[in-house]
Amino acid sequence: MLSIDEARAAVLAEVRALPGEEVAIADGLERVLAEDVTAAADVPRFANSAMDGFAVRSGPAGRRLRIAGESRAGAPATTSLNDDEAIRISTGAMLPDGADAVLQIELVDEHDGAVVLNDDVAPGRNVRHPGEDVRAGDTLLRAGTVLGPAELGVAVNGGRATLHCARRPRVAILATGDELVEPGAPLGPGQIHDSNAPMLHALATLAGASATTRRLPDDRAATEAGIAAALDDADLLILSGGVSVGPHDHVKPALAANAAEEVFWRVALRPGRPTWFGVRHADPMTLVLGLPGNPVSAYVTFVLFARPALAALQGADPRPHLRRAKLAEATERHPDRDECIRVRVDAAGAATPTGPQGSHILSSLLGADGLAVIPRGEGALPAGSVVDVYG
Ligand code: AMP
Ligand code: MG
Repeated sequence: MLSIDEARAAVLAEVRALPGEEVAIADGLERVLAEDVTAAADVPRFANSAMDGFAVRSGPAGRRLRIAGESRAGAPATTSLNDDEAIRISTGAMLPDGADAVLQIELVDEHDGAVVLNDDVAPGRNVRHPGEDVRAGDTLLRAGTVLGPAELGVAVNGGRATLHCARRPRVAILATGDELVEPGAPLGPGQIHDSNAPMLHALATLAGASATTRRLPDDRAATEAGIAAALDDADLLILSGGVSVGPHDHVKPALAANAAEEVFWRVALRPGRPTWFGVRHADPMTLVLGLPGNPVSAYVTFVLFARPALAALQGADPRPHLRRAKLAEATERHPDRDECIRVRVDAAGAATPTGPQGSHILSSLLGADGLAVIPRGEGALPAGSVVDVYG
């Protein structure tokens, strides 16, 4: 059986980055850049004032200068400045020709159309120079960057209204199980609400994908048809449940019938051992993940395998966000599978389990901020042991 790292590497080896598309800045949040962005011009574009005050020529305190005009933000002065003149100026307004400094309003006395400067004025005082922020031609952002608020603002300063970003991966989620009914529906005997489909949809959305969901019964023909319908419009097909070896688990044969080729089945992982991964080779190809139906197993295997695949499809760094933490309590090891336990890591770096760890105990994900990996082995891992935590 593959380890977690081997299984993730096997997934990533099959990923081909998606093509890009032009995205408006307003729609760019959390998209992944598919180009380097360079500055079209200097920022600031022109010398401007860092203060409300008076644009002057540098010189000693005590000078009395006639107010010769005004430079406002967006409305530069129309005259240039002489030695015995000052021009009223606002923050961000263009420095008038002839001026080399600004004295802030708090340091002048104004009367009778003139100002007296109450301080020495060094050259460049309160002046923001062109290119102080970025220079024309500077590389501002690199391909593969996930766009956050700062990246979007900087791109605008770089002269951009749109950005070339990876197309959003299309994720089709198929939740299998005769017992499943839609959220909120009354439950008949033996039925449960389908919590995996909405949860996986949310995980896919947070990973930058556009996702659809559908439920399928535990029926071979219906599973095969459902997979066939989903494959054509998906970059990643995610199945929940039906991937084990029970008499009502139809996912594997139905995938085989749809020409999805197995790369691996089963990972030395708890929860999540029956995870299946394969590829349907077509143009475009579809990655296929069969996740176990137990809700925590589905969540954990999404984090471990689907999330990196979605990052790589978008050209972003697919490496997991790993932290190191110390186990707050001794933890029993599984003899031959690495276990992911739901933990909360405190400010001191101590990881405490958030509750019972059964793969059906979804509520233990509440309040968890990571999955700590307990390496397989004999006996318990003592409190204080350092472990990796998936973020
Ligand atoms: P399976 O992997 O199909 O054998 O399902 C394993 C367990 O997960 C069973 O207890 C199922 O009822 C449960 N399960 C499967 N699919 C879902 C789902 N979509 N939502 C909630 N629980 C599920
Ligand atoms: Mg099932």
